[in-house]
Amino acid sequence: MRILLTNDDGVLAPGLLALHKALRGLGDLHVVAPHAVQSGGSHSITIRHPLLCSRVSLYGDFQAVSVEGTPADCVKVAVNALLPGRPDLVLSGINAGQNTGIHVLYSGTVAAAVEAAVMGLPAMAISLQFHRDMDFDAAARLARGVVEQLLAHGLPPGRIYNINLPEPGPGRPRGVRVAPQSTRALVERLDRRADPTGREYYWLNGDFASLEDDAPTDRVALREGYVCVTPLQFNLTDAALLREMQSWEWRLPS
Ligand code: MN
Repeated sequence: MRILLTNDDGVLAPGLLALHKALRGLGDLHVVAPHAVQSGGSHSITIRHPLLCSRVSLYGDFQAVSVEGTPADCVKVAVNALLPGRPDLVLSGINAGQNTGIHVLYSGTVAAAVEAAVMGLPAMAISLQFHRDMDFDAAARLARGVVEQLLAHGLPPGRIYNINLPEPGPGRPRGVRVAPQSTRALVERLDRRADPTGREYYWLNGDFASLEDDAPTDRVALREGYVCVTPLQFNLTDAALLREMQSWEWRLPS
């Protein structure tokens, strides 16, 4: 099995190295990852600059192609140019910080998986809940166990799984829960500051709190100490409204 590994925290990120280490023996691993941190960059692509690629040998058998681009760029260049053939699976992560709820929309980690799915490839995004002294090796061993269970159910083209791993602790993780993405809005907190010349500027607050969920979502599962798996899709069409709108009377505007 040919596996493409990528991320949005950059080729030097410990989560990527740990995932590579934990996946040894599962398949033929190819790492193509952004040269620099791309967190929060969502599904952006690079069209006005070249995608400079450098082959880097970082630690032991961890060899990678570092791309001066975004996570979606990495998937495009890996699949269309760098790999010896189409990957059977694309894994993105392990991200430093959860990608649950509305953060799924901002996430470069998830975007890499979505890009793979657009290309008809099965993909998984893997993220670890943010906490002090994050142990990516332990998280990666846990991730492998989840990946193997998902593999056992087959890998249809374009399937996307978003996997979030909870902060470890006594009795955690408590299990694996399948839950939907939370859609609660973020509580926007902008720090208003002044630059040395007195001009105002704003800083998006780092904790990105969200309104509480009143349903068992990905955020709730993670907070309760469960590994959370959410199937995603990138077709944003509102199917119910589409059907309703097709029954509306339309006229060509004159
Ligand atoms: Mn990130």
